[in-house]
Amino acid sequence: MRRFNPDWFIDYKNWLEYSIEKDAVFCLCCYLFRQDVGKQAGGDTFVRTGFKLWHKKEKLQTHVGGVNSAHNQALKKCEDLMKPNQHINNVFVKQTKEEKIKYRIQLNATVDCIRFLLRQGLAFRGHDESPDSSDKGNFLELLQFLADHNESINEVIQNCPKNNKLTHPNIQKDIVNAAACETTNAIIKDLDNGFFSVLVDESRDTSIKEQMAVVLRYVDKKGNVTERFLGIVHVTDTTALSLKVAIESLFSKHGLSLSRLRGQGYDGASNMQVDSCSCC
Ligand SMILES: [Zn+2]
Repeated sequence: MRRFNPDWFIDYKNWLEYSIEKDAVFCLCCYLFRQDVGKQAGGDTFVRTGFKLWHKKEKLQTHVGGVNSAHNQALKKCEDLMKPNQHINNVFVKQTKEEKIKYRIQLNATVDCIRFLLRQGLAFRGHDESPDSSDKGNFLELLQFLADHNESINEVIQNCPKNNKLTHPNIQKDIVNAAACETTNAIIKDLDNGFFSVLVDESRDTSIKEQMAVVLRYVDKKGNVTERFLGIVHVTDTTALSLKVAIESLFSKHGLSLSRLRGQGYDGASNMQVDSCSCC
């Protein structure tokens, strides 16, 4: 007959687990966190075999022991585990919020430098961008200048991880592409589905790739004649057909209609004329 009485363990109910199958009680916190060093009060009874000396209830108090006993240390760890505020996920979320703010400061500084260089039409890279170089190129030098004059930017740039400096040329190119996209969108918005003419010239770059520069000319809402560079398109050759296909794909990419085209300008290359409407 089972002699276990749950009322005996009412003071210890937070950490004692009763096994019906073995008719014994086990200590949960010692099972989870007890360190395997030295001899401990109660031995392995509460962890491995289970306590079933029902007539020696005082053994429970012996197992609990003093303030710094192995059981109380394990209990402390167990209680810490149960505290949601100390949960590792919460710590990560808190860290992530701080990291997010720092990352935003860093990204904004990088974007500001790139916008300045783009607006002024300056080169980004330097011949020697190593840390010891006296001239690291416009981008890195401008970023350093910004950091020297802004405490929060300086702190973020000095303490950022080495794999997250946002100064790699690929990141610069990504941000430049984003800026190009935004600029094109602003031009198309300014055009506002109005009439426009197109200025096209074709040339080879240093890697002997044929490319075509396209400029839009239109009258904006204030009545000013505006010329905006839309972009460079790579073409396989300079035959009339491939240039026409390239212009048409550029127009469709930006949502421009050939029916709104009212003029075409070329640099002497008559084969570049696009067949559009009858008036031009
Ligand atoms: Zn214990």
